[in-house]
Amino acid sequence: MYDYVKTVIPEERILFHRQMRDYTTFRVGGEAGCMILIQSEEELAKLISYLNRVEQEYFILGNGSNLLVGDKGYRGIVLKFDGPMEQIAVEGTRVSAKAGALLSQVAVAAREHGLSGLEFAAGIPGSIGGGVVMNAGAYDGEMKQVVEAVRVMDRDGQIATLDNDTMEFGYRTSTIRNRAFIVLEVIMRLAEGDREQIGAKMEDLAALRRSKQPLEYPSAGSTFKRPKGYYAGKLIMEAGLRGYRIGGAQVANKHCGFVVNTGNATAADIREVIEEVQERVKDRFHVTLEPEIVFLGDF
Ligand SMILES: Cc1cc2nc3c(=O)[nH]c(=O)nc-3n(C[C@H](O)[C@H](O)[C@H](O)COP(=O)(O)OP(=O)(O)OC[C@H]3O[C@@H](n4cnc5c(N)ncnc54)[C@H](O)[C@@H]3O)c2cc1C
Repeated sequence: MYDYVKTVIPEERILFHRQMRDYTTFRVGGEAGCMILIQSEEELAKLISYLNRVEQEYFILGNGSNLLVGDKGYRGIVLKFDGPMEQIAVEGTRVSAKAGALLSQVAVAAREHGLSGLEFAAGIPGSIGGGVVMNAGAYDGEMKQVVEAVRVMDRDGQIATLDNDTMEFGYRTSTIRNRAFIVLEVIMRLAEGDREQIGAKMEDLAALRRSKQPLEYPSAGSTFKRPKGYYAGKLIMEAGLRGYRIGGAQVANKHCGFVVNTGNATAADIREVIEEVQERVKDRFHVTLEPEIVFLGDF
């Protein structure tokens, strides 16, 4: 297989034996046998159609900030965007970002051009690709509000442009979660605004995050989706699980909606805490907590 892959991707971008803990904000996860850094849509088209033809499993990695990778690692190929696939362009009120660009960088670029609408995204540690897949959001903002169109690639390497409606954005979800599309580029329409005010709003939201969230520990942000009519963190706290710990994984004292790695957690510890929390909240309140985070590989 690698004989073909090497005809598409230069060898220095085919990386073997990568520790996934180095690529996830939880800082856990075993080895990925192979990770390929993608620098163009042409490369991706050739690679994807080939991998699908030979039925080779693969996973698109963003910034690994909503991801729990098992301790025994992942047997498929990890594809990660790199270099030119992280570019951001601003033209008038239109901002386009390649999938690998970080949300925080896109938000800063928008601020520098006096464009408002992405202030909410400045503190979300994901890529813009991962951001549209999950319809990332915070403090009354979400990707759905700013996305005009998303360029995607299907399993045969064909490119399509999906408009906002076709993306079927919902709470922490979009059509990409149910279809095998890869996000290539996100085109956003923002509003003209005042650079100082945009910057001040970003700083306010960052301060709010620091005061409410356990940012001193590795995590993947909110572990669970907000169940209809409830707040996950409140239910977990009321179930008596604040500070609940297995190994190095813990329900954060500062915010019960976060499971954190206190330093030496394994992915199995984190998963056990998640399952225990789900069970106890279900028993006590008859509410099902659905994980927001994505699980990958063998635990
Ligand atoms: C401290 C902290 C705070 C956070 N705060 C928030 C918050 O306020 N709001 C919020 O919504 N989230 C928050 N998150 C969660 C996370 O940052 C977001 O969900 C983010 O959008 C995930 O993006 P990512 O690039 O890291 O995706 P990853 O974790 O790498 O991947 C997540 C999923 O998206 C898929 N994916 C990634 N890129 C692509 C692509 N180009 N094409 C197709 N599929 C792709 C992956 O295959 C995977 O299924 C927080 C996380 C942390 C650690």
